[in-house]
Amino acid sequence: MAIEYGAAVDAKWNATEYRGNAYYRGIFDVCFESTEEGEDFEVHGITVCDAKTSWRDRDAKLESVQLHGQGLLALALYRQRHGADPGFIRRQIANFRTGVLHEDTTYDLSIVDFWREELDLAIAQAETRPRIASPGTNCWGCPYLAHCDDAKRYLWGGFPADPKEIAIRYAVAKSTVAECEKYLREATTERPINGIGYYSKDGVEPHEAAPERIMAAWGVTDERVLGLLKAMKPGVTAIRSVARTLHRGQKKRQDALVETLTRGVVKVRFGMGVSDDYEDEEKESSESC
Ligand code: SF4
Repeated sequence: MAIEYGAAVDAKWNATEYRGNAYYRGIFDVCFESTEEGEDFEVHGITVCDAKTSWRDRDAKLESVQLHGQGLLALALYRQRHGADPGFIRRQIANFRTGVLHEDTTYDLSIVDFWREELDLAIAQAETRPRIASPGTNCWGCPYLAHCDDAKRYLWGGFPADPKEIAIRYAVAKSTVAECEKYLREATTERPINGIGYYSKDGVEPHEAAPERIMAAWGVTDERVLGLLKAMKPGVTAIRSVARTLHRGQKKRQDALVETLTRGVVKVRFGMGVSDDYEDEEKESSESC
Protein backbone atom coordinates (compact mmCIF):
# COMPACT_ATOMS: atom_id res chain seq x y z
CA MET A 1 0.00 0.00 0.00
CA ALA A 2 1.29 3.45 -0.86
CA ILE A 3 0.18 6.54 1.02
CA GLU A 4 0.83 10.07 -0.24
CA TYR A 5 2.81 8.53 -3.05
CA GLY A 6 3.94 10.47 -6.11
CA ALA A 7 3.69 8.65 -9.45
CA ALA A 8 4.42 9.76 -12.98
CA VAL A 9 4.18 8.58 -16.58
CA ASP A 10 5.98 9.43 -19.80
CA ALA A 11 4.23 10.49 -23.00
CA LYS A 12 3.45 6.82 -23.77
CA TRP A 13 1.75 6.47 -20.40
CA ASN A 14 4.44 4.17 -19.04
CA ALA A 15 5.55 4.61 -15.44
CA THR A 16 8.57 6.83 -15.05
CA GLU A 17 10.48 8.83 -12.43
CA TYR A 18 8.29 11.22 -10.44
CA ARG A 19 11.01 13.80 -10.72
CA GLY A 20 12.32 15.02 -14.06
CA ASN A 21 10.40 15.61 -17.24
CA ALA A 22 7.38 13.43 -16.68
CA TYR A 23 4.46 13.88 -19.06
CA TYR A 24 1.90 13.62 -16.29
CA ARG A 25 2.27 13.15 -12.57
CA GLY A 26 0.08 12.99 -9.53
CA ILE A 27 0.06 12.10 -5.88
CA PHE A 28 -2.09 9.29 -4.56
CA ASP A 29 -3.58 9.78 -1.13
CA VAL A 30 -3.76 5.97 -1.00
CA CYS A 31 -3.05 3.33 -3.64
CA PHE A 32 -3.10 -0.41 -3.07
CA GLU A 33 -3.48 -3.76 -4.80
CA SER A 34 -6.33 -6.04 -3.84
CA THR A 35 -7.93 -9.30 -4.85
CA GLU A 36 -11.56 -10.21 -5.45
CA GLU A 37 -12.33 -13.84 -4.84
CA GLY A 38 -15.33 -16.05 -5.51
CA GLU A 39 -15.96 -19.78 -5.66
CA ASP A 40 -14.42 -20.14 -9.07
CA PHE A 41 -12.61 -16.90 -9.73
CA GLU A 42 -9.87 -14.67 -8.41
CA VAL A 43 -9.21 -11.19 -9.85
CA HIS A 44 -6.27 -9.01 -8.93
CA GLY A 45 -6.73 -5.29 -9.25
CA ILE A 46 -5.64 -1.91 -8.06
CA THR A 47 -7.45 0.76 -6.05
CA VAL A 48 -6.80 4.48 -5.79
CA CYS A 49 -8.43 6.42 -3.01
CA ASP A 50 -8.63 10.21 -2.86
CA ALA A 51 -9.38 11.83 0.48
CA LYS A 52 -11.74 14.81 0.43
CA THR A 53 -13.05 17.12 3.10
CA SER A 54 -15.72 19.17 1.31
CA TRP A 55 -19.45 18.50 1.39
CA ARG A 56 -19.44 18.94 -2.37
CA ASP A 57 -17.07 16.03 -3.02
CA ARG A 58 -19.45 13.18 -3.76
CA ASP A 59 -19.64 10.30 -6.24
CA ALA A 60 -19.60 12.68 -9.23
CA LYS A 61 -15.92 13.29 -8.45
CA LEU A 62 -15.22 9.64 -9.34
CA GLU A 63 -15.53 10.74 -12.96
CA SER A 64 -13.24 13.75 -12.58
CA VAL A 65 -10.10 14.20 -14.67
CA GLN A 66 -8.13 13.91 -11.42
CA LEU A 67 -9.49 10.45 -10.55
CA HIS A 68 -9.19 9.26 -14.15
CA GLY A 69 -5.58 10.48 -14.06
CA GLN A 70 -4.93 8.61 -10.84
CA GLY A 71 -6.44 5.48 -12.38
CA LEU A 72 -4.02 5.80 -15.30
CA LEU A 73 -1.04 6.30 -13.00
CA ALA A 74 -2.08 3.25 -10.99
CA LEU A 75 -2.43 1.23 -14.19
CA ALA A 76 1.08 2.22 -15.27
CA LEU A 77 2.54 1.27 -11.89
CA TYR A 78 0.72 -2.07 -11.94
CA ARG A 79 1.98 -2.84 -15.46
CA GLN A 80 5.53 -1.92 -14.50
CA ARG A 81 5.38 -4.19 -11.47
CA HIS A 82 3.56 -7.20 -12.94
CA GLY A 83 4.11 -6.90 -16.69
CA ALA A 84 0.37 -7.37 -17.14
CA ASP A 85 -2.90 -5.48 -16.77
CA PRO A 86 -4.87 -5.55 -13.52
CA GLY A 87 -8.28 -7.23 -13.56
CA PHE A 88 -9.88 -4.00 -12.37
CA ILE A 89 -9.18 -0.40 -11.45
CA ARG A 90 -11.17 0.87 -8.48
CA ARG A 91 -11.52 4.61 -7.82
CA GLN A 92 -12.61 5.78 -4.41
CA ILE A 93 -13.48 9.13 -2.84
CA ALA A 94 -13.18 8.98 0.94
CA ASN A 95 -15.10 12.01 2.17
CA PHE A 96 -14.06 12.74 5.75
CA ARG A 97 -16.68 15.47 6.04
CA THR A 98 -19.66 13.26 5.20
CA GLY A 99 -18.11 9.95 6.32
CA VAL A 100 -19.07 8.35 3.00
CA LEU A 101 -16.79 6.21 0.83
CA HIS A 102 -17.83 6.55 -2.81
CA GLU A 103 -16.39 4.06 -5.26
CA ASP A 104 -16.57 2.77 -8.78
CA THR A 105 -14.81 -0.27 -10.20
CA THR A 106 -13.82 -0.57 -13.84
CA TYR A 107 -13.35 -4.13 -15.06
CA ASP A 108 -13.42 -3.29 -18.76
CA LEU A 109 -10.10 -1.54 -19.21
CA SER A 110 -10.98 -0.27 -22.69
CA ILE A 111 -12.36 2.78 -20.83
CA VAL A 112 -8.80 3.88 -20.05
CA ASP A 113 -8.43 4.94 -23.72
CA PHE A 114 -11.07 7.56 -23.04
CA TRP A 115 -9.31 8.65 -19.83
CA ARG A 116 -6.05 9.00 -21.77
CA GLU A 117 -7.69 11.13 -24.48
CA GLU A 118 -9.24 13.28 -21.79
CA LEU A 119 -5.89 13.78 -20.04
CA ASP A 120 -4.02 14.32 -23.32
CA LEU A 121 -6.47 17.08 -24.17
CA ALA A 122 -6.21 18.68 -20.73
CA ILE A 123 -2.40 18.59 -20.86
CA ALA A 124 -2.34 20.02 -24.39
CA GLN A 125 -4.66 22.83 -23.32
CA ALA A 126 -2.56 23.55 -20.25
CA GLU A 127 0.54 23.78 -22.42
CA THR A 128 -0.89 25.92 -25.20
CA ARG A 129 -3.53 28.14 -23.63
CA PRO A 130 -2.87 30.70 -20.96
CA ARG A 131 -4.21 29.24 -17.74
CA ILE A 132 -6.00 31.34 -15.22
CA ALA A 133 -4.00 30.18 -12.24
CA SER A 134 -5.34 30.55 -8.81
CA PRO A 135 -2.51 30.13 -6.32
CA GLY A 136 -3.49 29.29 -2.77
CA THR A 137 -4.75 26.19 -1.05
CA ASN A 138 -5.28 24.57 -4.48
CA CYS A 139 -1.51 24.31 -4.80
CA TRP A 140 -1.33 21.57 -2.15
CA GLY A 141 -0.46 18.42 -4.11
CA CYS A 142 -0.75 20.19 -7.46
CA PRO A 143 1.43 18.30 -9.95
CA TYR A 144 2.46 21.59 -11.65
CA LEU A 145 3.72 23.28 -8.52
CA ALA A 146 7.41 22.82 -9.29
CA HIS A 147 6.97 24.60 -12.62
CA CYS A 148 4.21 27.06 -11.84
CA ASP A 149 5.34 30.66 -12.22
CA ASP A 150 2.04 31.94 -10.82
CA ALA A 151 2.67 30.11 -7.56
CA LYS A 152 6.34 31.08 -7.47
CA ARG A 153 5.40 34.77 -7.54
CA TYR A 154 4.08 34.36 -4.01
CA LEU A 155 7.31 32.84 -2.69
CA TRP A 156 9.69 35.62 -3.62
CA GLY A 157 9.85 39.36 -3.18
CA GLY A 158 8.97 41.54 -0.24
CA PHE A 159 6.52 40.50 2.41
CA PRO A 160 3.03 41.45 1.23
CA ALA A 161 0.90 43.87 3.26
CA ASP A 162 -2.49 42.59 2.14
CA PRO A 163 -3.73 39.78 4.44
CA LYS A 164 -5.18 37.95 1.41
CA GLU A 165 -1.77 37.99 -0.27
CA ILE A 166 -0.15 36.75 2.95
CA ALA A 167 -2.66 33.89 3.08
CA ILE A 168 -1.82 32.90 -0.50
CA ARG A 169 1.91 33.10 0.25
CA TYR A 170 1.36 30.89 3.30
CA ALA A 171 -0.57 28.29 1.25
CA VAL A 172 1.99 28.27 -1.58
CA ALA A 173 4.91 28.08 0.86
CA LYS A 174 3.34 25.16 2.78
CA SER A 175 2.60 23.38 -0.50
CA THR A 176 6.19 23.91 -1.63
CA VAL A 177 7.58 22.61 1.65
CA ALA A 178 5.39 19.50 1.32
CA GLU A 179 6.62 18.96 -2.23
CA CYS A 180 10.27 19.39 -1.20
CA GLU A 181 9.80 17.07 1.77
CA LYS A 182 8.35 14.34 -0.42
CA TYR A 183 11.45 14.52 -2.61
CA LEU A 184 13.91 14.78 0.28
CA ARG A 185 12.40 11.88 2.22
CA GLU A 186 13.37 9.69 -0.71
CA ALA A 187 16.68 11.36 -1.45
CA THR A 188 17.96 11.20 2.14
CA THR A 189 17.23 7.58 3.00
CA GLU A 190 20.98 6.84 2.93
CA ARG A 191 22.48 10.12 4.13
CA PRO A 192 21.29 13.60 5.11
CA ILE A 193 21.68 16.41 2.62
CA ASN A 194 22.68 19.81 3.93
CA GLY A 195 21.53 18.97 7.42
CA ILE A 196 18.15 17.61 6.33
CA GLY A 197 17.27 13.96 6.66
CA TYR A 198 16.35 11.23 9.12
CA TYR A 199 17.48 11.02 12.71
CA SER A 200 16.55 8.87 15.65
CA LYS A 201 15.34 10.12 18.95
CA ASP A 202 14.58 8.34 22.20
CA GLY A 203 10.97 8.64 23.23
CA VAL A 204 8.21 6.87 25.09
CA GLU A 205 4.91 5.38 24.05
CA PRO A 206 2.06 3.88 26.10
CA HIS A 207 2.72 0.35 27.33
CA GLU A 208 0.27 -2.16 25.84
CA ALA A 209 -0.88 -2.97 29.39
CA ALA A 210 -1.41 0.72 30.23
CA PRO A 211 -5.24 0.50 30.49
CA GLU A 212 -5.08 -2.39 33.00
CA ARG A 213 -2.32 -0.66 34.98
CA ILE A 214 -4.22 2.63 35.06
CA MET A 215 -7.23 0.70 36.43
CA ALA A 216 -5.06 -0.87 39.12
CA ALA A 217 -3.44 2.44 40.06
CA TRP A 218 -6.85 4.15 40.16
CA GLY A 219 -8.38 1.29 42.19
CA VAL A 220 -11.11 0.54 39.64
CA THR A 221 -12.21 -2.97 38.62
CA ASP A 222 -15.25 -2.33 36.42
CA GLU A 223 -14.74 -4.18 33.10
CA ARG A 224 -16.74 -1.50 31.27
CA VAL A 225 -14.24 1.15 32.36
CA LEU A 226 -11.45 -1.06 31.10
CA GLY A 227 -13.24 -1.40 27.76
CA LEU A 228 -13.66 2.37 27.58
CA LEU A 229 -9.97 2.96 28.37
CA LYS A 230 -8.90 0.47 25.71
CA ALA A 231 -11.18 2.12 23.17
CA MET A 232 -9.82 5.57 24.00
CA LYS A 233 -6.19 4.39 23.76
CA PRO A 234 -4.72 6.87 26.27
CA GLY A 235 -1.56 8.50 24.96
CA VAL A 236 1.50 9.64 26.88
CA THR A 237 -0.08 13.04 27.65
CA ALA A 238 -3.15 11.37 29.16
CA ILE A 239 -0.93 9.00 31.15
CA ARG A 240 1.04 11.92 32.61
CA SER A 241 -2.24 13.57 33.51
CA VAL A 242 -3.35 10.39 35.33
CA ALA A 243 -0.07 10.35 37.27
CA ARG A 244 -0.40 14.04 38.21
CA THR A 245 -4.00 13.54 39.35
CA LEU A 246 -3.22 10.46 41.44
CA HIS A 247 -0.03 11.79 43.01
CA ARG A 248 -0.52 15.53 43.11
CA GLY A 249 2.65 17.32 44.21
CA GLN A 250 4.65 14.06 44.44
CA LYS A 251 6.97 14.20 41.46
CA LYS A 252 8.85 10.98 42.23
CA ARG A 253 5.66 8.95 42.50
CA GLN A 254 4.32 10.55 39.33
CA ASP A 255 7.50 9.60 37.46
CA ALA A 256 7.41 6.05 38.83
CA LEU A 257 3.81 5.59 37.68
CA VAL A 258 4.52 7.04 34.25
CA GLU A 259 7.42 4.61 33.97
CA THR A 260 5.17 1.61 34.57
CA LEU A 261 2.57 2.88 32.10
CA THR A 262 4.97 3.60 29.25
CA ARG A 263 7.91 2.02 27.54
CA GLY A 264 10.93 3.44 25.76
CA VAL A 265 11.07 3.54 21.98
CA VAL A 266 13.47 4.88 19.43
CA LYS A 267 11.55 7.12 17.06
CA VAL A 268 12.82 7.83 13.57
CA ARG A 269 12.01 11.37 12.50
CA PHE A 270 12.64 13.51 9.50
CA GLY A 271 13.65 17.13 9.71
CA MET A 272 16.33 19.78 9.82
CA GLY A 273 19.46 20.04 11.95
CA VAL A 274 20.70 16.50 11.22
CA SER A 275 24.45 15.94 11.13
CA ASP A 276 25.71 15.14 7.65
CA ASP A 277 27.46 12.22 9.33
CA TYR A 278 24.50 9.91 9.81
CA GLU A 279 26.35 8.05 12.57
CA ASP A 280 26.08 11.16 14.72
CA GLU A 281 22.48 11.86 13.96
CA GLU A 282 21.24 12.19 17.54
CA LYS A 283 20.29 15.82 17.13
CA GLU A 284 17.24 17.67 18.14
CA SER A 285 15.01 19.00 15.41
CA SER A 286 12.08 21.30 15.35
CA GLU A 287 10.56 19.26 12.53
CA SER A 288 8.94 15.89 13.05
CA CYS A 289 7.24 13.10 11.11
S1 SF4 B 1 0.63 25.32 -8.49
FE1 SF4 B 1 -1.15 26.39 -7.70
S2 SF4 B 1 -1.45 28.13 -9.07
FE2 SF4 B 1 -0.06 26.73 -10.09
S3 SF4 B 1 -1.37 25.44 -11.39
FE3 SF4 B 1 -1.13 24.36 -9.43
S4 SF4 B 1 -2.88 25.03 -8.19
FE4 SF4 B 1 -2.71 26.50 -9.89
